[in-house]
Amino acid sequence: MGRKVLLDKAHIEGIRYYDVYRKNGGYAAVEKALKMAPGDVVEEVKKSGLRGRGGAGFPTGMKWSFLAKPEGVPRYLVCNADESEPGTFKDRYLMEFLPHLLIEGLIVASWALGSNRTYIYIRGEYAWIVDILEQAIAEANQAGFLGKNILGTGFDCQIYVQRGAGAYICGEETALIESLEGKRGNPRIKPPFPAIKGLYDCPTVVNNVETLAAVVPIMNLGGEEYAKIGVGKSTGTKLISACGNINKPGVYEIDMTQSVEEFIFSDEYCGGIANGKRLKACIPGGSSVPILPANLLLKTAKGEQRMMTYESLADGGFPTGSMMGSGGFIVLDEDQCVVRHTLSLARFYRHESCGQCSPCREGTGWMEKILTKLEYGKGQMSDIDLLWDIQRKIEGNTICPLGDAAAWPVAAAIRHFRDEFEWHVTHPEEAQVRNFGLAHY
Ligand code: NAD
Ligand code: SF4
Repeated sequence: MGRKVLLDKAHIEGIRYYDVYRKNGGYAAVEKALKMAPGDVVEEVKKSGLRGRGGAGFPTGMKWSFLAKPEGVPRYLVCNADESEPGTFKDRYLMEFLPHLLIEGLIVASWALGSNRTYIYIRGEYAWIVDILEQAIAEANQAGFLGKNILGTGFDCQIYVQRGAGAYICGEETALIESLEGKRGNPRIKPPFPAIKGLYDCPTVVNNVETLAAVVPIMNLGGEEYAKIGVGKSTGTKLISACGNINKPGVYEIDMTQSVEEFIFSDEYCGGIANGKRLKACIPGGSSVPILPANLLLKTAKGEQRMMTYESLADGGFPTGSMMGSGGFIVLDEDQCVVRHTLSLARFYRHESCGQCSPCREGTGWMEKILTKLEYGKGQMSDIDLLWDIQRKIEGNTICPLGDAAAWPVAAAIRHFRDEFEWHVTHPEEAQVRNFGLAHY
């Protein structure tokens, strides 16, 4: 059984409400942090080895220490709750069932960074969670953990919830900032990073929901103790949202000592492949990371057992490795068609591209069109190479990571499942019959 430090109290009835949360040790991290100098709180987070849980895995303490502190200029903390990565729903779970854990983490982080106005930017579709968060914020205000002169320290902090309007790209931190400022959510060119020039051109830290929630156990345990959980540079625990053809889809907290095999097949986690089918492939970190076929998923290219850590999931890099990403674990059984899945992702990225850069704007559209031809039995062998060529021309040539995110799934699918793409060319009638009754093109 892996150690839990985020969801350990999720089973307690009423934990969503302040009184129950407080009775069960809630807000002790705020009490501890506000007795420390802000810089010492940053040091604890550095010692913890916590890495950003939104997908990039960037060291959180380092990001916090990059925050510029010009005299007389406000600094902002923004919580990225725009969880929209296909297959990812772990932040939803945290906010829905443990809203005070996030609010507590936000207060500690606001103190550490000197943010008096802190924002939660939440995806618009999570409308019911906005109410849950607003209630938790009101309760924290009433208890004196938010507002003016918190715990008599002279520190003022308020948290505001802002709903997005349904654009995936607004989860990219600079697009999120643009949207928060009331503009169209177009990503900005980095550098400058938000730590230097972010919200209203002021120094800003943007952190994911799970990252900020993890600040609470880091404060309670101390950075060094937190760093003892996990394996190597994959410290602490990670939430994984597991879905697809498994017996037990859901949100699991792992301490990264688990192997991928254990995570998929043990009853403690996914409970094996549904309907007695065989495992075919898995996208282990949300739709933006490369798909891995079963053999490479369970064992690395070196023949070692693949573990649920940042390092092991990425071992070998592309094509033999993938990424931890956002922790959206999408499992495919033997009956699933990789071409169809790739088309579905391509359609998503084409729809969500903001259109600023040509390789992404045009390339995502072309990839969707070619994949549609192939999936519906109208493609040629040369289309597979054309598809490969297009994804290569997108990767690394765009303003924000959406371009790479659109290219990698296509590259990995062709690399590992080229035979399936060729089958669609050599069996056009079967491909068409199989799609009878589905969307028409
Ligand atoms: P990134 O690697 O560009 O940046 C990581 C973070 O580190 C950013 O906050 C950035 O500002 C900061 N940073 C990096 N170098 C810095 C420097 N020199 N100075 C100051 N700050 C610096 O990645 P990203 O754009 O934040 O995230 C991309 C990831 O997001 C993808 O890998 C994908 O998995 C994930 N993603 C997640 C979701 C979701 O719903 N959770 C949705 C889409 C994408
Ligand atoms: Fe917009 Fe795509 Fe360019 Fe990102 S990569 S800025 S989504 S066009």
